[in-house]
Amino acid sequence: MTIVQTLRVDGADGLVGSEVPYIELGSSDLGPTVCLMAGVHGCEYSSMLGLRRFLAHVDESQLQGRILAVPIANLASFESRTPFVVPHDGLNLNRCFPGDPAGSFTERLAHQLFDTVIRPSDYLVDLHAGDQVEALEPFTLFDASDVEERSRAIAHAYGLPYSIRAERSASPVAGTSSAAAAEVTIPAITAEAGGRGLVDEISVELHLNGIRGVLASLGILPASLPAPLPPIELSRWVWLRSPSSGWWSPTVAAGDRVSADEIVGTVSSLLGREVVEIRAPESGVPLFVTTSPAVAADGLLLGLGIG
Ligand SMILES: [Zn+2]
Repeated sequence: MTIVQTLRVDGADGLVGSEVPYIELGSSDLGPTVCLMAGVHGCEYSSMLGLRRFLAHVDESQLQGRILAVPIANLASFESRTPFVVPHDGLNLNRCFPGDPAGSFTERLAHQLFDTVIRPSDYLVDLHAGDQVEALEPFTLFDASDVEERSRAIAHAYGLPYSIRAERSASPVAGTSSAAAAEVTIPAITAEAGGRGLVDEISVELHLNGIRGVLASLGILPASLPAPLPPIELSRWVWLRSPSSGWWSPTVAAGDRVSADEIVGTVSSLLGREVVEIRAPESGVPLFVTTSPAVAADGLLLGLGIG
């Protein structure tokens, strides 16, 4: 049975709230419940479209389980085309899980999403892409946790070329949906493909096939594709930040292999006279690279996955 519902978060200080539509398909009497969530960041369009396309074509009569799907979780950022953060309070929704019912707008949105669609689920797949100014090599991410083997299994079933197992203490971020889910023993992944504010067909299909692969691996849908090759598993992240504000010129692309001490780009002053070389501290793979030249002091330049 298909049930369309709306999750409401009131605005504050005169700002409008959000009414986020989500959909429930199938039945938990027949198998596990999977939460499929996209649009936690409002400009990551290929991941949203992968989920929209899945929902448009899924044959509900085949479902041996239940799906809770939110195609655009962060409507406030989507409608205002705001990358990374929510315009109401400047917070990054994917640093606020499991949220706070008494907090600011983004913390309340995180709480509503967590309690309404994540906590009632047996698995979470949170679909992302590089944001408006990020080029990205497709990867999945899961957190070290008591349920990490089941998280790893769905990461592999998603079928992207790289997978990162993030150790809490070594992670550059906290409050992600997948970390908060794993904390309450819900196996979870973040799946990343696409970027730069584009809708690209290859990335949309990667997400669509990833959703189908995960659901097939859990016995919720019949397998429609051969099992994917296992990803290259990386053990951690190093995020490189800019030593000053200026003009960022990367010299590597997402997916390149770089060696320790290799130059990955430069940051030059606004008049172009001072140039600082940015070097990889260790060998690894840039999984995302900031594509906008504009960078603030301590601004994010690239994320290096370390093997
Ligand atoms: Zn994202």
